[in-house]
Amino acid sequence: MEEMVNRKIVLINRPDGMPKLSDFRLEEVKVEEPEAGHVVVATDVLSIDAFIRTTLETRAYHGVVPIGTPIVALGVGHVLHSTVPEFQPGDEVFGPLCAQTVTTLPSVALRKLDTSKFPATAYLGALGMTTGLTAYFGITEVGAVKPGDTVVVSGAAGAVGSLAGQIARISGATNLIGIAGGPEKVAFLVNELGFTAAIDYKNENVEARLAELAPDGIDVFFDNVGGSTLDAVLMHIKEFSRVVICGGISHYEDMDNVVGPKNYLKLAERHARMEGFAVTHFGARFPEAEAALTGWLQDGQLIVHEQYEHGIERFPEALLTLLTGGNRGKMLLDLR
Ligand code: NAP
Repeated sequence: MEEMVNRKIVLINRPDGMPKLSDFRLEEVKVEEPEAGHVVVATDVLSIDAFIRTTLETRAYHGVVPIGTPIVALGVGHVLHSTVPEFQPGDEVFGPLCAQTVTTLPSVALRKLDTSKFPATAYLGALGMTTGLTAYFGITEVGAVKPGDTVVVSGAAGAVGSLAGQIARISGATNLIGIAGGPEKVAFLVNELGFTAAIDYKNENVEARLAELAPDGIDVFFDNVGGSTLDAVLMHIKEFSRVVICGGISHYEDMDNVVGPKNYLKLAERHARMEGFAVTHFGARFPEAEAALTGWLQDGQLIVHEQYEHGIERFPEALLTLLTGGNRGKMLLDLR
């Protein structure tokens, strides 16, 4: 294999609260010859996901990033060198490439991509496990959205939320309300993504606005945020409604002090169900979700807004953009 340098963003301090740029460092190392069964991949585009923040803690569901190692991230890239026949130089692949320009992985960790219909980045967005597939199963399976439902989505202008809202609309939701930060995001949800209405949680009283926008109550709440947003929505759930716990980004900076919803007794009063899920539990059904999402993308029912940062050295900035609400739709880091 020819000589190559890997440029990687490593964690040097565990953040206390919002991460700082000084918690990360760019390092350069020579790429070693791969062991048998391994594949060397050049990263093309990384997916910047909310879950990455949780991996910077000392305990994390998605695995802890050890100090001095590259930050966890999913990505798409192309094969540079392979020790197995299933992968050949030039093949486009998806996998846990991490925040680095070159990755050496066991071949079982990689998936070869079919880019005949969509570019590889679709496998991070609409067809991405942490984005489109998460939105699909959260809305159709856990939330079981039905025609005529009133559906509320928090984090609605982000990657998962923007797709969850659109899938709820496709599933027949007639009153679709998004909650997001800032007037531009409210306009984006209503004017570009087909939400019926949207609430700017940074400048409006969420509970009061829900009373106006959903006077008959809420059938399904797809929650990405938790905290006071979840409490506000619980006040307005209908009898037999479903509250889908997809995530709780308002807690991710202080995971040791998460406080449960103070209005949870509304679940009892209204015979409602609150159910969390991890998309990985639906692994056996990913092909079904991909087929549905592919169809909606092809016939133009689903729109994915992509927002890019460029260059591996901008990985920390890209992550901070997402954590501070600077993204609309899918946040990506382009290394090409
Ligand atoms: P994203 O929604 O594209 O970006 C995160 C958004 O969260 C930001 O744009 C920001 O939008 C909002 N936000 C940040 N801090 C907030 C706060 N304190 N309060 C309210 N909103 C805040 O990120 P994503 O990767 O698609 O993830 C969205 C959610 O899905 C996360 O909760 C994540 O953990 C969850 N998720 C769950 C699964 C699963 O299997 N259950 C899989 C993937 C992702 P605003 O401008 O609106 O504040």
